[in-house]
Amino acid sequence: MPLDVLTANDRPGHYAPSWYAATAHTMPDHPPLRGERHADVCIVGAGYSGLSAALHLRERGYDVVVLEAHRVGWGASGRNGGQLGSGQRVGQGELETSLGVGKARLLWELAEDSKAVVKSLIARYAIDCDLRPGVLEAMHRPRFEREMREEVVLLNDRYDYPYIRFVDCDEIRVMVASDGYHSGALDTDAAHLHSLNYALGLAGAALEAGAKIHERSRVTRVTEGRVETAEGAVVAPHILLACNGYLCGLEGSVAKRVMPINNFIAATEPLPDPAAIIRDDVAVCDSRFVVNYFRLSRDGRLLFGGGENYGYRFPADIAAKVRKPMLEVFPQLADTKIDYAWGGTLAITMDRLPHFARPAPGILSVSGYSGHGVGMATLAGKLASEAIAGQAERFDILANIPRPRFPGGAALRAPLLTLAMLWYGLRDRL
Ligand SMILES: Cc1cc2nc3c(=O)[nH]c(=O)nc-3n(C[C@H](O)[C@H](O)[C@H](O)COP(=O)(O)OP(=O)(O)OC[C@H]3O[C@@H](n4cnc5c(N)ncnc54)[C@H](O)[C@@H]3O)c2cc1C
Repeated sequence: MPLDVLTANDRPGHYAPSWYAATAHTMPDHPPLRGERHADVCIVGAGYSGLSAALHLRERGYDVVVLEAHRVGWGASGRNGGQLGSGQRVGQGELETSLGVGKARLLWELAEDSKAVVKSLIARYAIDCDLRPGVLEAMHRPRFEREMREEVVLLNDRYDYPYIRFVDCDEIRVMVASDGYHSGALDTDAAHLHSLNYALGLAGAALEAGAKIHERSRVTRVTEGRVETAEGAVVAPHILLACNGYLCGLEGSVAKRVMPINNFIAATEPLPDPAAIIRDDVAVCDSRFVVNYFRLSRDGRLLFGGGENYGYRFPADIAAKVRKPMLEVFPQLADTKIDYAWGGTLAITMDRLPHFARPAPGILSVSGYSGHGVGMATLAGKLASEAIAGQAERFDILANIPRPRFPGGAALRAPLLTLAMLWYGLRDRL
C-alpha cells in the first residue's frame, strides 16, 4: 500500500482516536466491494460530500454506489471542529473586491443554502448530532476591529442578514474567558454539531433511501465509466470524486488546484465549570491565519483545534502540538488533562473557494472547502446531484470561476506552502 494521507496516520479501516469516535451513536459495518457491479452513479468517498450526493441522488431515483477506503465519515467529516459557518471561507467584502458584487452575492446565496440544507437534513432525517446555534468570530488584534465592524454592517445592510452583530472588547471577554481577544462578531444563524454523528446520520439516511455503501474499498483507478478497487469494479455512466484532502494521486488535474493540509484537535477532560470558559455554548474561531477554533462538547469538555502541518505525516505528539495554542488562549487550563488528541486532513485552494470540476466526461469532482466544509461539502453533494440530473446551473457558479494553481504544481506546493505558512504564522504573532 502506498504511504500517503490515506494510510500514514491511522489504522486502516478504523476511526481516528477522537472524542467523536468515542461518542458516536452507531458505526454499522458495510462490506467491501467484491466483483463487478453496475450503477447509475459511483461516488468515491463517504464524507459529507459523497454521502450528501448519495442521499440527494437517491431522492431523485438514481441507483448509487459509494466506495469508501476506510469507514463512513473516516475522513475530515468525522473529525472536524463541527462549526457550520455562514458565508464562504473568505469574507463578503473581500469577495466583492476580487470577483465583483454579482458573483459575491451568488456565492453568499450558495453558502446560505448550505446552512439551510444541513439544518433541514438533520431535521428531516432526525439526525442526532447535538446541533446548537452560534458561532463567535474572535479578533486577536485590536486593529482588526474596524474590518469586523465593516463586514457586520455589510451583511446586515446589503445582504439583509440580521443574525450577525458586532461584539466589543468588554463583551467578548465575558463571553470567552481569555484576554487574547479584543472584539468579534456573533452569528446566531451559524451553528455547531457533532461531526461524526452528523456523517453517520447522513449515511443512515442514504442507506435507508436505497444507496449502497462499501467500506474498506479503496479506489485505485478511475477511468470514464469505470471505477476500480483491488477486489472489484463499478461500471457507471456518472462518477463523483468526493475525496477532498484524501484524493492523493487519483486525479492529477484536481491536485494542481487543491492541496491537502493537516489540522489538529484536542479534547480536554470534562471541565468543572464549562460555562466559565465559554459562557453561551457557542463555537469560537479566531482571526489568526492558522486559525484557533474551539467549543464545548456535550459532556463539558473543551474541544480545541489549532496547529497545522503539511505533508502526509502527523506529528508524533498531537496533544503537545495543540496544547501550546490552547494555553496561549486559556492559560488557566495549564493543569487540565487532555483525554483525546487527533489530526485530520482537509483540502485548501489558493483563493479559499471550493473547487468544482469536470476532470473528464462523466466525471465530476468536488473538494477544496478550505476549512469550511461542514456546510459547503454537504451542499456540494447536493449540487453534484443536480448536475448529474442535468441541472448544472448552481454547480457551474463555482465550476466557472477561474481557479489559480498552486505555484510549483503538485511537487513543490507543499514546501512552498510550508514557507508561506511560516511567514503567516509569524504574522499572527505581530
Ligand atoms: C481537524 C479539522 C477541523 C475542521 N474543522 C472544520 C469546521 O469546524 N468547520 C468546517 O466547516 N469545516 C471544518 N473542517 C473541514 C471539513 O471537515 C471538510 O471540508 C469536510 O469534512 C470535507 O468533506 P468531504 O466529504 O469532502 O471529505 P472527507 O470527509 O475528508 O471524506 C473524503 C473521504 O474520501 C475517502 N477516500 C479518499 N480517497 C479514496 C479512494 N481512493 N477510495 C475510496 N475512498 C477514498 C476518504 O477515506 C474519506 O473518508 C475541518 C477539517 C479538519 C481536518
